[in-house]
Amino acid sequence: MTSVVALGKYAPDTDALKKTIELAGGFGRLKSTDRVMIKPNLVAWDDQYPIAPFGVYTTTRLVEDLVLCLKEFGCSKISIGEGSVVIKKGMGTMAAYEGLGYTALAKKYGVTLVDLNESEAEVFEYQDGMELHIAREAVEQDFFINFPVLKTHGQTKVSLGLKNLKGCLKLKSKRHCHNPDSNLEYAFSHIADYVKPALTLVDGIYALEKGALHFGNAFRKDIVIASTDILAADLAAARTIGYSGDDIDHIRHYAERHGRSWNLGDYTCVGEPIADHVKPLKWDWSWTPENTGPGIFSKMGITGTALPKYDETLCSGCSPIANLSNILVLSAFKGQPLPSVEILNGKKMQARTGYEKTVLLGNCMIKANKENENIRDAVPVKGCPPAEDDVVKALQSVGLDVNILAYYGYMKQQSEKYDGKEGYDKGLFTA
Ligand code: SF4
Repeated sequence: MTSVVALGKYAPDTDALKKTIELAGGFGRLKSTDRVMIKPNLVAWDDQYPIAPFGVYTTTRLVEDLVLCLKEFGCSKISIGEGSVVIKKGMGTMAAYEGLGYTALAKKYGVTLVDLNESEAEVFEYQDGMELHIAREAVEQDFFINFPVLKTHGQTKVSLGLKNLKGCLKLKSKRHCHNPDSNLEYAFSHIADYVKPALTLVDGIYALEKGALHFGNAFRKDIVIASTDILAADLAAARTIGYSGDDIDHIRHYAERHGRSWNLGDYTCVGEPIADHVKPLKWDWSWTPENTGPGIFSKMGITGTALPKYDETLCSGCSPIANLSNILVLSAFKGQPLPSVEILNGKKMQARTGYEKTVLLGNCMIKANKENENIRDAVPVKGCPPAEDDVVKALQSVGLDVNILAYYGYMKQQSEKYDGKEGYDKGLFTA
């Protein structure tokens, strides 16, 4: 028998989620005595420029609906577990819980909040010598509910059930996945083999195009997808934003390893017809043909300074730094060619010939280019990730007249981009 995946319409009452879970037979294996963990996607927290929550974070109201369903079933040992990326000092998982109303939700229903970054690690060897260190609490649950958001991703095209489990990894393994020799999507496709979600729910109240932390555009979609089979859930969710299993490497890796089909047609889809809810969303950011900067560089006529496109080795720690340097270079442009500088990030980029100076952002870049003979004058910016101030100073030192206020202004605008717009209700992120 093929796995069942259900698509339901979201409505602001618990019954909508309950019906979708029932259609998928989602609680079929659940026992009221089970230790249940809900794993939302609370990717990172920024108190200075709050990330607009729509399509980025699992909607608090929907998690509350799920807690109510579990309580009604008789479950009392319920926890919520996440390991957010720390992009600002002191702003980890607990700050995300607080800022998104999860702390209030936990108090209201007697739910335990777990910071998976603080957990002991269970170590799994997924291939010769390649290990994943996974938070023990995530592995030891009786009934693990994976609750990602419907979104695209700049490195992996989509970020759904399989990708959401990356939040269960210890920091060491989060970084391991981004190592040049790990193959990001192959590596994280294994987490589900060890965490073994009993149910995957995809929060599609909003769907995010070109998604990444502060950036991207969220569209109201009002759907929820449920399946006890993470592969079926991901295939159905991907389809609603315009992708098939063939398009997504990590879905294919997982399916191949388990001898399963990555064709949604081979699964039993119930509830709302998926075809009625398809709106293709873009995942990628355009870059100049010479790989010297984001597409806007061509439009504005920016030359001289080059920022090659980020690759899959750029981990979440350095991702804000890469964005910062893009905006700073834009702020330095006054209509004249910029200084001959190349700015590199991630773990595997190699300096190209022809630049007077090469800025190496972060310890990984410094190491990767230690012996690169194309570099005439290296400007290393140490740190893992490097500090914002150090990036600004490094760019100024190579003759770029950067303006940090332009960056702050851009981030503020990103934080406020949905304010006052119909359908973007921040009340959904309170308990
Ligand atoms: S230096 Fe940057 S890319 Fe390297 S591990 Fe640290 S945060 Fe990640």
